[in-house]
Amino acid sequence: MKIIMLGAPGAGKGTQAKQIAEKYKIPHISTGDIFRANIKNGTELGKKAKTFMDQGLLVPDELVVDLVVDRVRQEDCTNGYVLDGFPRTIPQAEALDAALEAIGEKIDYAINVEVPDENIVRRMSGRRACVACGATYHLVHIPPKAEGICDKCGKELILRDDDKPETVEKRLNVYHEQTQPLINYYTDKKVLVEVDGTVDMADVFAAIVKILGE
Ligand SMILES: [Zn+2]
Repeated sequence: MKIIMLGAPGAGKGTQAKQIAEKYKIPHISTGDIFRANIKNGTELGKKAKTFMDQGLLVPDELVVDLVVDRVRQEDCTNGYVLDGFPRTIPQAEALDAALEAIGEKIDYAINVEVPDENIVRRMSGRRACVACGATYHLVHIPPKAEGICDKCGKELILRDDDKPETVEKRLNVYHEQTQPLINYYTDKKVLVEVDGTVDMADVFAAIVKILGE
């Protein structure tokens, strides 16, 4: 079962990807992990990627695809995998499909975890972080015992810049521009499935299992 996760930043697709990996005993693959592993092991691809990253440049699509394809050809991916955070753009998706086709494989499901922007902005704006120890809270889901005070160290809790509505909205705009076209792409390929990401995490997962099968 070869799966791609789609969904806006903050939609919870990483959490779902982890659970899918656990239930179906397939690896959860994120590009960040692949980069780190290749750099750590000093592979040719890793060295190439590092030259871009050291200069603060984005790793080119072609190289990212090479890294991902190299990863999905490893033995633990025989029964499938769940890709998280890749592809992000149409050129990446096309390159991935071409590379998979060359080894006689294809993506089975592109799962879109759907959450309206306003819900994501609301979720993120409820986050709080401790200025001292970095502990994180959520006003609704994981509230601190005393308002505005860290349970662990007693210091002040703040709303991080990253979680502020204007920052989240900017990130969502980039997502819609870049990644939304992927939804059309995978619809055309007849592998797109959508789940409602506004419900409880456990219910989102139950909906995914219903699609993928027990
Ligand atoms: Zn603290």
